[in-house]
Amino acid sequence: MKGLFSLLAMLIFLPVMGQFQSDVFKTSEGELEMFFIGHGTLMFEYENLVIHIDPTSREADYGLLPPADLVLVTHQHGDHLDLNAINQIMKEGTQVVMTQRCMEQLEDFDARLMNNGDMETILGIGIEAYPAYNIVHKRSSGVAYHPKGEGNAYLLTFGDTRVLIGGDTENVPELKMLKDIDVAFLPMNLPYTMSPEMVADLALAIQPSVLYPYHYGQTDPKELFELLEDDSKIELRIRDLR
Ligand code: ZN
Ligand code: ZN
Repeated sequence: MKGLFSLLAMLIFLPVMGQFQSDVFKTSEGELEMFFIGHGTLMFEYENLVIHIDPTSREADYGLLPPADLVLVTHQHGDHLDLNAINQIMKEGTQVVMTQRCMEQLEDFDARLMNNGDMETILGIGIEAYPAYNIVHKRSSGVAYHPKGEGNAYLLTFGDTRVLIGGDTENVPELKMLKDIDVAFLPMNLPYTMSPEMVADLALAIQPSVLYPYHYGQTDPKELFELLEDDSKIELRIRDLR
């Protein structure tokens, strides 16, 4: 009955989700549909579960979107952590995963802490947190836009399908080491994250089957086609994730 109820609940949201582009992947456990909300913000549907990633009100009216079974927040910046958006998609039993810096910012919010290196399985989804940070790009004060240790990239496992959510990062060694990645979302806007060359460097190292540049702001994502043209194995998909 619970499954039927979830299915019916999802049907109600079909019209509103229709405004967003989406792609479907077949995993060993069923379909994984990815909705491209905008910038660094995504929503996944998998086995009647709704997973919101970095939900923010600047990208969508979360009062209209399906409530979350799982929320993942990569780091504390305003384009990734937005308590109002999170509160609008909370229901009984919603699990929220975030970093230490996010929890400090929200004080009393009841979330599950994941630090770099942590691994969990929540609602049957494998979640591994990897460091997301800047090596090159720093503020005028000399502090990195994203200091190491503060932000997470998340490697999610849905059945046999592995999806990397880069968060705000550069092409750091901890991410370049990852293998067997099916889908990767990599951020591409200067000065905060990566240039197209840096995205290409990271993508060529991890060899995802499908690459989505995201969080790309004013950067032209098509620049990646040229940088990856010698590599026939990575399928580059450009979606509306400015
Ligand atoms: Zn950031
Ligand atoms: Zn950002």
